[in-house]
Amino acid sequence: MLFDAGGVLVLPDPTVLGPLLAYFGGSTDLNQHRRAHYVGMKAKSDAEASESSWDVYNRAYVASVGVDVSDRNEAAGVLDRTRYHHTWRWVIPESRTALDRFASAGVPMGVVSNASGQIEAMLRREIAQVGPGNQVEMRVIVDSHVVGVAKPDPAIFDHALPSFPDVEPARIAYVGDSVTMDIAAAAAAGIHPILLDPYDDHAGEVFERINSLHDLVAEFA
Ligand SMILES: [Mg+2]
Repeated sequence: MLFDAGGVLVLPDPTVLGPLLAYFGGSTDLNQHRRAHYVGMKAKSDAEASESSWDVYNRAYVASVGVDVSDRNEAAGVLDRTRYHHTWRWVIPESRTALDRFASAGVPMGVVSNASGQIEAMLRREIAQVGPGNQVEMRVIVDSHVVGVAKPDPAIFDHALPSFPDVEPARIAYVGDSVTMDIAAAAAAGIHPILLDPYDDHAGEVFERINSLHDLVAEFA
């Protein structure tokens, strides 16, 4: 199993963004912020926005948490300035417990993330590290900034697959939350893409979708 980090293991911290957007009438409810991330990702995918373009995401996010229409432009701009890479740190509780179940089942795991050089340290705090340790053991954690290649370029997986010499690439799944970044890149790399789609925003699409990482645990039990 290979996992994307943003949107699969962690989300932009709602305990930071909640109060930030409450100023503009947005909700501080954690579940509304969780929902807003996937609303934003769906909008981003629909617009075929590039990895570096978050305008569509920001606008969809602030609308989803209930920011007043008249404040959305300003709130989206503030969100854009605040949601920098170090705020991608709020651990999705279900994902954390699912990783424990994968580990118990002996499933080899890794992370492949478009990031900014921070992802390994962030994961080590409370989710996962390479090799044995206090968190879930990964064979490899790939940060696009560190390796110099980013999704949707499938070459980023060249930095992960050598850690799985005992597994056929076609039997390796990559779970991501972006159609444009994750599904296409994994398919092009010859591994099996799966979209984490907790709210069925992408119902009817041809690729495999799951609501939670727990949906996959059964396949390995
Ligand atoms: Mg992601």
